[in-house]
Amino acid sequence: MKVTVSAIKADIGSIGGHTRPSDELLNSVKEFVKKNSKNLLIDVYIGYTGDDIHLIMSHTRGIENDKVHKLAWDAFTTGTKLAKEQGLYGAGQDLLKDAFSGNVKGMGPGVAEIEMEERPSEVFSVYAADKTEPGAFNFPLWRAFVDAGSNTGLLINEKLAAGVTFRIMDVMSGKLASLKMWEDKAELEAALMYPGRFVVHSIVSSEKEDGEVIVSASTDRLHNIAGTYVGKDDPIMIVRTQKDFPATEEVGSAFNNPHFVAGDTRGSHHMPLMPVKLNSAASLNYSLPIVSCLVFSMRNGKLTGPHDGFGTADWELQRIWAAERAMIMRNQGFIHPATLVPDELEYNKGYEARMKKLNQKFKDIEKVIGKSK
Ligand SMILES: [Mg+2]
Repeated sequence: MKVTVSAIKADIGSIGGHTRPSDELLNSVKEFVKKNSKNLLIDVYIGYTGDDIHLIMSHTRGIENDKVHKLAWDAFTTGTKLAKEQGLYGAGQDLLKDAFSGNVKGMGPGVAEIEMEERPSEVFSVYAADKTEPGAFNFPLWRAFVDAGSNTGLLINEKLAAGVTFRIMDVMSGKLASLKMWEDKAELEAALMYPGRFVVHSIVSSEKEDGEVIVSASTDRLHNIAGTYVGKDDPIMIVRTQKDFPATEEVGSAFNNPHFVAGDTRGSHHMPLMPVKLNSAASLNYSLPIVSCLVFSMRNGKLTGPHDGFGTADWELQRIWAAERAMIMRNQGFIHPATLVPDELEYNKGYEARMKKLNQKFKDIEKVIGKSK
């Protein structure tokens, strides 16, 4: 049976800043989907990570289906009305267009989708991140699919040892490069080096020309869509696991060394990516980036779960590491690399204004200190 899993997320408003949606807002989205998904979806789970609400939907309509995308769009639009009534912050901020036009891609919400031939025991995880950018998944995906030091499965699983194909997106041009392991490993690593520019779009198995999709990640950058910065392009991705793919924990553990990513307050800093429990609010500690892991089983499109992937006791250690690393970086204030490079400073109108005034003050040395004697 061919089943499609669609993960669509958007920030449509949160309580008192960029924290988390209100219970009422979440309920309004749930109610709308419940009422309008009959004969469309097989199953759905709705939750949040920080200020982003995610819809995890199963159906048989394939990827980029206009009806499925419209359902998500309408649910977010309906929720936005309530968010405005409640005076929530950033109400409807990820909905960049007034009218739906067949596909939510390029309209603000983040989308990850995989159409799959369902296995007898189909299992997948959804990673939903907040206060960061799509490139935040570069390092964990490299660890899970390329680095045997992180994942022994790359040595002892025949299919993984054969290598996968990474599809890398240049987020500035929107073009894709197909990089096959292991011959294109160095080029892959050269791309992953710069997560602000090159991000993992998807990963497919390599044995056939048209391999099975193992990973699908959202790759939209909101400031490119809108022409200006309107909110952080928080990513979501689906990763199929077990059997011919990495074990669920081989992917989950790739998040066990909180690495520095772009994002945070005003989308302008580097901070570590902290694994959090399902339905966690963003932190008031300078909004350090967070990621949650929703682990599902699926049979005939019916979802069981989510199990909370980062909910077990041991992940408290990683949360403490992330909090400590966040303080180390924050102690450096506004000095690089605590802040992003100028091109990536998200609220850069203010930065541009500062630089304009500064540049007017730069003069030839003689004019400032007179002729040297
Ligand atoms: Mg967000």
